[in-house]
Amino acid sequence: MKLKTLFLTAAFLLNLFVGCNREKDLPADREMNVFVGDLMKKMTLEEKIGQLNLSTGGGFFTGPAMVKDNKGLISQGKVGAILNTLGVDDVTALQKMAVEDTRLGIPLIFGLDVVHGFRTIFPVPLAQACSWDMEAIEKSERIAATEATAMGINWTYAPMVDIARDPRWGRVMEGAGEDTYLGSMIAAARVRGFQGKDLKDENTLIACVKHFAAYGAPQAGRDYNTVDMSDRSLREWYLPPYRAAVEAGTGSVMTSFNEIAGVPSSSSKWLLTDLLRGEWRFKGFVVSDWTSIPELIPHGVAADSSDAARLAINAGLDMDMEGRVYQNFMNDLVASGKVTEETINNSVRRILEAKYKLGLFEDPYRYCNKTREANEIMTPDDVAFARSFAAKSMVLLKNENNTLPVSKKVRTIAVIGPLGDSRENTLGGWGAAGQWDSCITLLAGIKAKAGDNIRVLFEKGCGITGKAEDGFASALAMARKADFVILALGESQDMSGEASSRTDISLPGVQMELARRVIFLKKPVAVVLFNGRPLTIAELDSIAPAILETWYGGTQAGSAIADLLFGDVNPSGKLTMTFPRSVGQIPVFYNYKNTGRPFDPRLPEDYFKSRYQDSPNTPLYPFGYGLSYTTFKYSAVTMNKASFSRGDEIEASVEITNTGNYDGDEIVQLYVRDRVGNVTRPVKELKGFRKVNIKKGETVKVSFTLPLSDLSYYHEDMSYDYDPGEFELFIGPDSDVREFVLFTVR
Ligand code: BGC
Repeated sequence: MKLKTLFLTAAFLLNLFVGCNREKDLPADREMNVFVGDLMKKMTLEEKIGQLNLSTGGGFFTGPAMVKDNKGLISQGKVGAILNTLGVDDVTALQKMAVEDTRLGIPLIFGLDVVHGFRTIFPVPLAQACSWDMEAIEKSERIAATEATAMGINWTYAPMVDIARDPRWGRVMEGAGEDTYLGSMIAAARVRGFQGKDLKDENTLIACVKHFAAYGAPQAGRDYNTVDMSDRSLREWYLPPYRAAVEAGTGSVMTSFNEIAGVPSSSSKWLLTDLLRGEWRFKGFVVSDWTSIPELIPHGVAADSSDAARLAINAGLDMDMEGRVYQNFMNDLVASGKVTEETINNSVRRILEAKYKLGLFEDPYRYCNKTREANEIMTPDDVAFARSFAAKSMVLLKNENNTLPVSKKVRTIAVIGPLGDSRENTLGGWGAAGQWDSCITLLAGIKAKAGDNIRVLFEKGCGITGKAEDGFASALAMARKADFVILALGESQDMSGEASSRTDISLPGVQMELARRVIFLKKPVAVVLFNGRPLTIAELDSIAPAILETWYGGTQAGSAIADLLFGDVNPSGKLTMTFPRSVGQIPVFYNYKNTGRPFDPRLPEDYFKSRYQDSPNTPLYPFGYGLSYTTFKYSAVTMNKASFSRGDEIEASVEITNTGNYDGDEIVQLYVRDRVGNVTRPVKELKGFRKVNIKKGETVKVSFTLPLSDLSYYHEDMSYDYDPGEFELFIGPDSDVREFVLFTVR
């Protein structure tokens, strides 16, 4: 029986292959349409429904309760794709079941959250964004795709492009931060990196932009919580990064858990069909998030699982991740006419097209290559790149009296703090196939750099959480012996990521107390922070001489931090998410609206103004902020004209001089303010940036060209255009830049 199936399958595949070749003269799309159309004619309804089911392969779980063993389902043709199984042997075993045990032998897609690297782990995405380096971001995804495909994976659940303004939400770590313009560029770079030039290449995989839509705006920063916002905010701030990913060709889209204004994304026909496929012309397939279809029941829009399945498929949601409701109820829904067979066909076609594009019908095992698995993982070049990319992602927040880099005269360094030598808090969440036991901790990085010349001592001092202070005494004694102290503080990596919202985002446990006591010794001290979100560290900022934000830097984190601490690399990262002074200020972000009663800090006696009684409105560190070991001086901005007509381009430039003692990279930012709009406009919007290397003493000219259409926004009637009037243009080192040039549009 088994042999017969095998024979039939082989014959079928051969047939398909020959069929493919016969159509060679046709354009690629037509060839695919013919192939998929022929295949679908042979499929029963049950076989079609099987394609709509995404199941774990028994590897590991990234969501709540599910069936533990899906092997039987694969052989019965009830699974279209597998998630969370990796490695050539394991993937081959499951693929074999699909190809050999089922009537039509349709191969499976294998998906995994390849979010910031596969085995070579790069900094968490929020950190990567702080590099503002599109080339590096794209390259990191190219490497991730190469490694993942060498181990059986051909679909990643990334990029996550959810704009986020609330650091209580743990998943800010997975995105690019708060800005739509930058976030959209990063979204496209990631898709390009994953998908390469051709999905048929053996080292490219399908991207899945997520979480569609507006998952980054849950009320009160609590994960999975309700999202409610105006159409204007949705279109202006939250949707563009998804759209950028679609325009870059992402092969799939994942729905979000949340509702938007009463309609959960997984049942939103407007979102999944009218907008995504209609307006944006998306041609790939849509997958739910983990059980987000049955979650339509607790959301309160579906009466039961069958109802949930009906709503989702009719909205345009093609594949059910771990929800099992398509698998269990779709047959009856079609029989009762609640779902048409045409709807099923549309979804199946999109999924089969993805398999076709990956080349799986030509060779179901094309991503199961033992030689690649042995040779293409963690190559020395990739690891070296991980180190330099990590250094680019870190942000120097404070550096009083040039505390950093560590002086060459230093002979004894004390590394103190619970994150000083913590391998398990180096990679960051969603570590894919990363191996925490092979990553470089801060202590290891410093020791390697220090060599025999510098003594390096280490004491934890306290835990990341907990109240115990009994480690303080030995830590302080050690600090007294040292001539430089590095305080390694922050959160454990599981404090950010999914289901990891927090109401208190200050340093956990007794770490702040440890910091106070160490800093009180008046030694040169640099704080090295490990965290996946902006923290409230106003007091630390007021007492620590130097603070380096290192996020979770990945496989090579410790080496990269040491490169920065010792001045072998000059810090250049800039924040892509505002650091609040306190939780009470949240959400605090740079592109806010002015209000009718803006507060002017120069007039504190003005009582009836938009302000707090107990805090400035301004954040601790603004968007775009980050220091260097050198200093940059900006000239006044010059523009090609002061007044523009429709269709013109704005040219603006500035001269920047490196006035310090180190060569350095500067991220130059251009912001615009529309003084009078048809609806209110933000006080500033990022419209361009450049990353330039400037040697010490050198002056460079940095120029921007901006079509006037970049000034467009959604008007009261939701038309998208720009208006005549006055605009302010700023070029500076961060979003706090004050000086502007005024221009008019006629
Ligand atoms: C997360 C997604 C992820 C999926 C699969 C879900 O819980 O929200 O971001 O892609 O699991 O692991």
